[in-house]
Amino acid sequence: MGKKREIGACLNLRPRSGFFIISLDLELGWGVLDSKNYLKGYKKNLLGVRSAVPSILDLFEKYKIHATWAAVGCLFFESRDQLLHAFPAKRPNYQDRAFSAYANMINVGADEKEDPFHFAPSLIRLIRSYPAQEIGSHTFSHYLCLEEGQDGETFKEDLTAALKIAKKHHLNTESIVFPRHQSNKEYIPICAELGIKAYRGNEPAWIYRPKNSKSNQSAFRRLLRFLDSYLSITGYNCYPIHQIEGHYPHNTPPYNIPSSRFLRPYSKGLKSFEPLRLRRITDALTYAAKKGLIYHLWWHPHNFGVNLEKNLSFLEKILKHYAQLKKMYGMESQNMGELSRRLLEQHKNHSGKPNNKTYRANAKKLVYLQGL
Ligand SMILES: [Zn+2]
Repeated sequence: MGKKREIGACLNLRPRSGFFIISLDLELGWGVLDSKNYLKGYKKNLLGVRSAVPSILDLFEKYKIHATWAAVGCLFFESRDQLLHAFPAKRPNYQDRAFSAYANMINVGADEKEDPFHFAPSLIRLIRSYPAQEIGSHTFSHYLCLEEGQDGETFKEDLTAALKIAKKHHLNTESIVFPRHQSNKEYIPICAELGIKAYRGNEPAWIYRPKNSKSNQSAFRRLLRFLDSYLSITGYNCYPIHQIEGHYPHNTPPYNIPSSRFLRPYSKGLKSFEPLRLRRITDALTYAAKKGLIYHLWWHPHNFGVNLEKNLSFLEKILKHYAQLKKMYGMESQNMGELSRRLLEQHKNHSGKPNNKTYRANAKKLVYLQGL
């Protein structure tokens, strides 16, 4: 028996069963605080979230999709007063204050009715009313883990505040998505300590490597990321379940469930390239289903805030394709929390004593299968 089959067998997972993971970053105005005139420039997109979320949920229900909605903690609050009371004592002191939710409360209104850009308890309730939808965390304040002026202590306070408000809503937070893909490896033990079971890491190619705002300015990297949505530059970015890394050294949670692709929104100027954009995703999904791998797609609901019909019809094509793969190859839709629980359970069943040697060897050779 080959080494990979052996590990698969240890995990007692069907080696041929592929997984389709979907996660969405629900942030509204908190995610674009540093954009100049963000309430003007992004107004349509942000207001469009109110129609996009119910429509996406209806599609998810139709195709039995389990998804993770990583929500910014500030969105849970019913009022500005409640939000101010829940601020942690220690806060990040970013070099660029525009990043800080804590330092930019001037634009925040009284409640969701008056300010649909910064409050969304009704949307969170709506998401929870649909089956198999997980509410994860996008931190409390859209916290940027690689920016200068913040540290592990302020991150811990921020995430603690996020978990606290979620708990008030009777939610046990299991998954996190680090804002702006700034997954900071040093903060993984903090996530572990706070009970987080899964996080979404970045694609392995250098163009997706976590960077802060200062080092992320390369137009070349952005261009390659853009082209990669249409043409295969970095491959499929699918990976087998046994390559999912847990927290060092015992491979315990949180598990890194990396992104395979950002679902870029419809653009009128690029409409002739829509078939390429779709094939880039469906080909990778097919590959994952046939080989029993994981494919993780993500986007923001506000990406669907304009051109809603076009974006929904594009999403439905992907979901229809998934439905076929489910029939043909037994591919499964799972949210991040579900997949991490499955991993944890299987590891526990496998043995009380983790095999560090195997896990370390696996972690070192974390090679993503690039589409052949
Ligand atoms: Zn974000």
